[in-house]
Amino acid sequence: MRDESKTGLPLFKRVFVNRSLNFANTKLVGFDMDHTLAIYKRDAFEGLAFRETIKKFIEAGYPEELLELEFKPNFLIRGLLVDKKNGNILKVDTHKYVKNAYHGYRRLSKEERYSLYNAQGIDPENFLSIDMFFELSEVQLYAEIVHFMNMHPGRVKKTFEEVHLDVRTFIDLCHKDGTIKNHVFKEPEKYIQRDKYLSTTLVRLIDAGKKLFLLTNSLYDYTKIILGYVLDNSYEGFANWKDYFEYMIVGAGKPGFFIGSQPFLEVVEEPNLLKLHSGPLHPKRVYYGGNAQLFEEVTGYSGDEILYVGDHIYVDIIRTKDTLNWRTMLIIEELEQEIPKLEELTEDLEKIFEKLQEKETLDERLQKIRSMIAANKRQVQKAEHREDMKKINHLLNENEKLIKSLEEGKQSLKDLDKNIKTLMQNREAKFHPVWGELMKVGLERSRFANQVNAYACLYTSRVSNLRYYSPFKKFISFHEVLPHDVSPGA
Ligand SMILES: [Mg+2]
Repeated sequence: MRDESKTGLPLFKRVFVNRSLNFANTKLVGFDMDHTLAIYKRDAFEGLAFRETIKKFIEAGYPEELLELEFKPNFLIRGLLVDKKNGNILKVDTHKYVKNAYHGYRRLSKEERYSLYNAQGIDPENFLSIDMFFELSEVQLYAEIVHFMNMHPGRVKKTFEEVHLDVRTFIDLCHKDGTIKNHVFKEPEKYIQRDKYLSTTLVRLIDAGKKLFLLTNSLYDYTKIILGYVLDNSYEGFANWKDYFEYMIVGAGKPGFFIGSQPFLEVVEEPNLLKLHSGPLHPKRVYYGGNAQLFEEVTGYSGDEILYVGDHIYVDIIRTKDTLNWRTMLIIEELEQEIPKLEELTEDLEKIFEKLQEKETLDERLQKIRSMIAANKRQVQKAEHREDMKKINHLLNENEKLIKSLEEGKQSLKDLDKNIKTLMQNREAKFHPVWGELMKVGLERSRFANQVNAYACLYTSRVSNLRYYSPFKKFISFHEVLPHDVSPGA
């Protein structure tokens, strides 16, 4: 629900509240790194992963034609599900109803969607959920290969599921063997954006007496380069990225960090090794692994004294809130594009609601006509009893006219339905030509939106939006409003 206290601040820069949070009570603010503190130049980075992964496919004996596969940075959006067994990608609404599906680049018909998914209902647990940006290029590559397999039957002698497993394996390999890292190390500016307000935002929190910590799955060598690029020398008195953080944890293995019992290891740079650690975490040193329970014990902070900021709905947010009661803020960078579009398209939405209202009025009118026809028929029966031919003829005449106008009305209703469908499709295509709005399916919430709603206390498009808010602000949620509640001005 919108916090109106920031009138004047563009919507796409605001922080949205699902669950009230008194920022004054937050003592420790933790940050994920990738896509949270570090914003990626996605086309460049994902394109790199896409191309490097294809090379691994060829090395593993897949046909060389795969080299011609094309990276399409905008084909997918987050929150989609992947049916690995059938090679399909699905958009599902909050009631787990599959509203849109693609097999490679072929759209599944309504009948196919029904027989595969909607007839029996689906369990999203059986599918892979695209939660991370890194997964977009991975799944797009999968779609490319599915498409290739359909176009060239027999060229790849594997099932769709086996191909998916290979995509996973090869992309992991690219990350592990340094194929991707080495490119980023060489030219971080090509792959990472510097947000010039990030350091100001972090310093504001520190000045307000909060302590910051870093909790990332990335390893130290990568973290050092990325955060060095993003934060070094960007604020007076904070020459090094480490100066911002009280605690630094790399290689955290989230979600395992939140539920497991891994010990903390200390990262020692010279000589390059990991040293088993016990006792309190020393500020300003870098640790590896660890677990949340121990983290709470050794830092002395717990539960809602901690706010954790991340971009991954499952790893960063759902697990954190489920198991620890840490407060959470989700970074949804797509909102920077989606919110201005939402604002731009309010007229389109108004038109849709107008047409829906028109449909309701017409529906009511048709029901009245049906009742009149039925009443006339009953009168005819009575008149037949009295053999009142004049009355009978009059009633039959009248019904003939009514039936004609009912038929005309039904046709208008059909036209209206078609019109509404077209208006909705056109509006959705303005968000994304294939998948529509991130947070909606038609006029309903998407599965992704539902998760955001259920698990993220706060959400916003980027970390530096926090600079517009007091570190002592009471973020208030009006989330408890029910569909039947009477809202002010309604
Ligand atoms: Mg991340």
